[in-house]
Amino acid sequence: MRCPFCSADDDKVVDSRPADEGATVRRRRECLTCGKRYTTYERVEELPVMVAKRSGVIEPFSTQKLRAGVERAVAGNAIDPTAVDALVHEIEEQVRAHAPEVSSDLIGLAVLERLRHLDLVSYMRFASVYKGFDNVEDFERELVELQKSTAPKRRSE
Ligand SMILES: [Zn+2]
Repeated sequence: MRCPFCSADDDKVVDSRPADEGATVRRRRECLTCGKRYTTYERVEELPVMVAKRSGVIEPFSTQKLRAGVERAVAGNAIDPTAVDALVHEIEEQVRAHAPEVSSDLIGLAVLERLRHLDLVSYMRFASVYKGFDNVEDFERELVELQKSTAPKRRSE
């Protein structure tokens, strides 16, 4: 680390401790040339997660965008806002676990999976507006899947 006093690039770390609840490491350094001390902060570089769309476009993942999509789907339906928060948070964690790149389909399906348990009207609305499901085939396949999993079990005859 270049000394801010004499510009020499020769120092030793005299103290190292976590800061910002562990998000940062604060180091006290001593310049071996002029003997003065200074402080540096070290933090992990936030890894951006990229979303690969079917169109081939790749764009940075946006929690706000995800939230907006979910909120559009649940608008007008009696959904507990904390359930929406939890859903968005869960999806975000799932997305970050797939860094550095995740497909838009994976995000869409993850949202659908959760909405299905939360509210069927919201689920259907999300499925119909979600960009990954803009062709009829995908939507119908989803419908079939949905009917399979919600159809009452028939008694064996
Ligand atoms: Zn120095």
